[in-house]
Amino acid sequence: MSRRPLVVANWKMNHTRRAARHWCAALGERLEAEPWPSGVEVAVAPPFTALAAVAESAERLGLALAAQNCHSEPSGPVTGEVSAPMLEEAGCRYVIVGHSERRQQFGETDRFIARKVAAARRAGLVPILCIGESENQRESQRTEPVLEAQLRQGLSEVRLGSGDELVVAYEPVWAIGTGRVATPELAGATQAFVRDILAAVAGPAVAEATRILYGGSVKPESAAGLFAQPHVDGFLVGGASLEAEPFHRIVLACGSGSC
Ligand code: PEP
Repeated sequence: MSRRPLVVANWKMNHTRRAARHWCAALGERLEAEPWPSGVEVAVAPPFTALAAVAESAERLGLALAAQNCHSEPSGPVTGEVSAPMLEEAGCRYVIVGHSERRQQFGETDRFIARKVAAARRAGLVPILCIGESENQRESQRTEPVLEAQLRQGLSEVRLGSGDELVVAYEPVWAIGTGRVATPELAGATQAFVRDILAAVAGPAVAEATRILYGGSVKPESAAGLFAQPHVDGFLVGGASLEAEPFHRIVLACGSGSC
């Protein structure tokens, strides 16, 4: 089965509304010279405050809107949080759930993340479930059990059937924001394993249809080699998405040509 490649820009806590509009204008200029490759889906996850600014030109630029996080409840006394139905109403199609920065800095557990995955689906959003091992876990040969546990627990509150959309982002923690991108062989082998676990958890049809993204220090120079791996269906891009130019080049690398 052929899966539609997906590349998602994760701006994290960067870009004001003004900077977001500037990014969109710069992207528009690049797209006039070189449009998105056909068949590749592109999404942007700005901070909540810049969602509306990106939404203004999302259609013209061929961008889907994504959020960086959501709460597990639809509403209630949770100061500072944003719910999945609010994000759906703001125009989001995707929501990132379980990013390692949230696991580490906000103590998010697999259990809480599972409830967010379910909340996202109830609101009609496609969850981008992030999983990844730390350096220590990889060095002590624990990568596979760690990923399996994150995936099984992260999906424990949903029952996925064929036709249900899910995106998984494999993001080794040691590669995020460090400049230490995984080799294509490592990413490919690990993502093949992730697909096997998905098949065991949700069945072969869901596993076959689910896009598994790689994330962790992807740059325009490393994208084509990673994307050549059969189980790498696109990217979640942090640092290299903050400027339109390298992000555009990473997406081009997922087209039929090279970057
Ligand atoms: C991320 O935070 O999802 C990410 C992949 O970051 P970076 O590309 O900067 O490593």
